[in-house]
Amino acid sequence: MYRNLKSSCGRILLIILTFSLVSTGTCLGKSRIIEVHLESTPLFPGTFTKVTLVPRLEGVNLVGAWFDGREIPLVRDGGAYWCLIGIGLGERPGKKILSMRWERRGERGVEVTAIPVKKKEYPKEFLRVSKKMVEFSKKQLERVLADQKAIREAVKPVTKRPLFQGGFIKPVPGAVKSQFGLRRFFNNKPRSPHSGVDLKAPMDTPVLSCNSGRVVLVRDCYLSGKTVVIDHGLGLYSIYAHLNKVFVREGQFLKKGERIGLSGMSGRATGPHLHWGVSLYGMRLDPLALLKVF
Ligand SMILES: [Zn+2]
Repeated sequence: MYRNLKSSCGRILLIILTFSLVSTGTCLGKSRIIEVHLESTPLFPGTFTKVTLVPRLEGVNLVGAWFDGREIPLVRDGGAYWCLIGIGLGERPGKKILSMRWERRGERGVEVTAIPVKKKEYPKEFLRVSKKMVEFSKKQLERVLADQKAIREAVKPVTKRPLFQGGFIKPVPGAVKSQFGLRRFFNNKPRSPHSGVDLKAPMDTPVLSCNSGRVVLVRDCYLSGKTVVIDHGLGLYSIYAHLNKVFVREGQFLKKGERIGLSGMSGRATGPHLHWGVSLYGMRLDPLALLKVF
């Protein structure tokens, strides 16, 4: 059963297509049980948003949510719930399924919503560079792979509750120098798309934690240099690279705006700047979305 519903209130948009499925009870039957609101739209590959889920009937509890086949943590907020959903940069436009499992007075069911994903073209840049910039020795390659694995492992756990509070801030005041998703071609060979944003930051600019969280990785990486990863909870992490100095240690809790270190050009960088990244459920997404969503 499909129903078309279209309305908006402020920045929050109601998802258009909703249908209710698999009600084991009779009372709630085929009625729409949960309203789904997206904090920012449109959603496209490489970005994420906050989703608010509001039960329409008294006594409905949400017991789980899945987006695109992956279970995602739900946060209860009064009578409503919220969660974070993201779309990987390599995903195609189309529709992604959000399923919500609910219960009410002994009855159970699943409500399913299709969330539209729009197309986005990211810019391309063609550069001619010396072989030294693009080729690795066996030893360098081993180090790069070990660094990538360490970061991948660091951002894998999904802390079930938010460790952040309120809105996010930019870690340095500088403007964007190189945007997220930029596809670079070195000597006509494609590189991985840019996994974060490069912010302008003269040498030794204080780098601040974009929100509260726990430091999960401090590592001197071959490419990203001195790198810090912070867990903000709910599968959301922020990453800071090419630092000149690091003031924090693994396991440490940070408040929003606390000093992580000083910017620099450690690792492979052509000049001082801050590379700022965000990972949600292991996907690298545009950090500037953090400033819009919360
Ligand atoms: Zn960068």
